[in-house]
Amino acid sequence: MNWINEISKNIKGDVAIDGATLKRYSADASIFEVRPSAVVFPKDSQDVKNLVKFVSEHKVEGPKLSLTARSGGTDMTGGPLSESIVVEFDKYFNKIIDLTPASPFVTKEREQGGEAGGFAVVQPGVYYRDFEKETLKYGLILPSYPASKSICALGGMVANNSGGEKSLLYGQTNRYVRQLKVVLSDGNEYQFQKLGVLELQKKKAQGDFEGQIYRKIYELCEDNFDLIQAAKPKVSKNSSGYYLWNVWDRKYFDLTQLFAGSQGTLGIITDHRR
Ligand SMILES: Cc1cc2nc3c(=O)[nH]c(=O)nc-3n(C[C@H](O)[C@H](O)[C@H](O)COP(=O)(O)OP(=O)(O)OC[C@H]3O[C@@H](n4cnc5c(N)ncnc54)[C@H](O)[C@@H]3O)c2cc1C
Repeated sequence: MNWINEISKNIKGDVAIDGATLKRYSADASIFEVRPSAVVFPKDSQDVKNLVKFVSEHKVEGPKLSLTARSGGTDMTGGPLSESIVVEFDKYFNKIIDLTPASPFVTKEREQGGEAGGFAVVQPGVYYRDFEKETLKYGLILPSYPASKSICALGGMVANNSGGEKSLLYGQTNRYVRQLKVVLSDGNEYQFQKLGVLELQKKKAQGDFEGQIYRKIYELCEDNFDLIQAAKPKVSKNSSGYYLWNVWDRKYFDLTQLFAGSQGTLGIITDHRR
């Protein structure tokens, strides 16, 4: 089967296989060079869902078929590189959907330990430099920006759990992620956020794929609670995921903390609130 033709039929966005594009997407900011078979530019979440469904349905005939997300492409470890399909977000997923400065009133999120400042809903391909222009209009910044802030995008900042010159004081990107929309391996999009114990119980009781994820990760975190907490690195900046110690503190369960720093290995982020 010609995978690329089939993929083109399944999505509204663009599919590129020309030499110049493949060369461009063979590199990030690392020393590695890996040429993809195709670069796909999804137009919306439905495209991402269709891509994931297509790849999981054809994994048996095409075991090397895979999807690798890319936002700004400034990773220094080869994270957005692939021999298969690169899914590029900066072309169409580049909108700031909402930007609201903080309310002077105590919100539910702030009662639960959220940060004061403001809330934004952004797509992963929004460049930090463009986001900052907008937040500065309210005198706000997202303080976990990396040194590559003029060339990186927010999807990569979350997936790499970026930090930078202000991180000693203000922490890394995971601290500012409130909600994530993520397409998982079953080809559906889910919304993740911090849950209290009752909300967690409801999720675990679901008989679907989402329920299974909550049950399995809860069991992993609860059964190994002391081990996981003891394994938390005692350093001021850590960019090696997975941050299991941040998921469950026996009061709140927050899967956004597992996706932050996961380098796109667990799901594809389609938008997020910070
Ligand atoms: C000069 C320079 C300085 C840097 N300084 C710092 C620094 O101070 N601190 C720091 O933390 N990093 C730094 N970096 C590394 C990098 O720039 C940052 O981590 C940046 O936040 C990555 O963002 P990006 O949009 O370029 O990500 P990309 O390179 O596009 O992707 C990074 C990872 O995220 C995954 N990903 C991208 N989009 C998605 C998505 N939508 N869903 C799921 N996964 C996704 C990719 O698969 C990849 O594994 C630096 C890099 C350079 C070149």
